[in-house]
Amino acid sequence: METIVEGSIIDVDGEAPGYLRIREGRVIERGQIGADSSHGRVRRIKGIAIPSAVNAHTHLGDVGFGREPPVTAVENVIAAPDGVKFRYLAGVRARPHRAALRRALQRMVGEGTGAFVDFREQGLEGVRRLRAASVGLPITARILGRPLARPLSSEELAGLVAEADGIGISSAREESRVIRETISSTCHAAGKSYALHASEVIRESPDEYLHPHPDLLIHLTCASEEDLMAVRDAKIPVAVCPRSNALYGRLPDLGRLERLGLTMLLGTDNGLLNAPSIWRELEFAYVSQRLTGHPVTPHYLVRSVFLDPWAWLGLPGAARLQPGSSARPLILRLPSEDPEYQVVTRTSERVIVLPADGGPG
Ligand SMILES: [Zn+2]
Repeated sequence: METIVEGSIIDVDGEAPGYLRIREGRVIERGQIGADSSHGRVRRIKGIAIPSAVNAHTHLGDVGFGREPPVTAVENVIAAPDGVKFRYLAGVRARPHRAALRRALQRMVGEGTGAFVDFREQGLEGVRRLRAASVGLPITARILGRPLARPLSSEELAGLVAEADGIGISSAREESRVIRETISSTCHAAGKSYALHASEVIRESPDEYLHPHPDLLIHLTCASEEDLMAVRDAKIPVAVCPRSNALYGRLPDLGRLERLGLTMLLGTDNGLLNAPSIWRELEFAYVSQRLTGHPVTPHYLVRSVFLDPWAWLGLPGAARLQPGSSARPLILRLPSEDPEYQVVTRTSERVIVLPADGGPG
């Protein structure tokens, strides 16, 4: 199946008018509009071409929880061991749990998400359930597990790091520095990632969460300007989750992250709070930030979902729409005059033409 998309092309090299010729989901030709070699024999779509999306922070484990999240302090919902989330995880059986994870992943694939980074609770068993649920789907799963035993069990940690893509801990407040250093050094010795939540509900000191050196921080909702500059100078990207923060009365200041020059990624956070839809997250991120009077640019938001995370994942070619690259471009049936704004605020599932199958037509 071949398709030509004509209009605007957004990739890691910038935004430009042009066309892409796509075969089996891969770019085989790129050029100026009207210069393609198809002689009109290939289906043509006017719109925007962009790399697949990356959802940089999920907790898909609780996606099967089916009720409105309680209106209370967020700790009562997501903290171990008594929060709503952990009671759900303690009670869910393996088979329906895997099925719920699979449905969530299929939805993400159907909406053009090409990769996600998940903080998976439940130790090694949790990692295995999500890994099993993702088998055979065209999505890159980066699963960061979490060791259960305290004090740490070196056997458990070694097993986790062998099967997971790294470790994602709750926060520096909740784990001693010794534990963090053991986790971080075990991950890094294996070439895997160490990540943690930071300054989500209260401000924490960067002296804590930057040591040992993490590969990714989540939230920084309550971080000061000086804290953010320290994170920027340490060259650590931050994944923000505006909808999940907003449910509990907070907003990360995306305009400030942009102004200070941090590398921002975007995630949808807990499955029990929000659908894992990166498009809803994008629109909310733009609109909620605009409401503060200090807008974030669509350009920065586009980078946070379609471009910068691929570099973090070690797959930079997935963000370059050129013949021979590993990218699986999405086609969006949208006007192409101001494409970044269109992508951020006007994309819904109906306008996405998926890479491999040519889409719903
Ligand atoms: Zn999280």
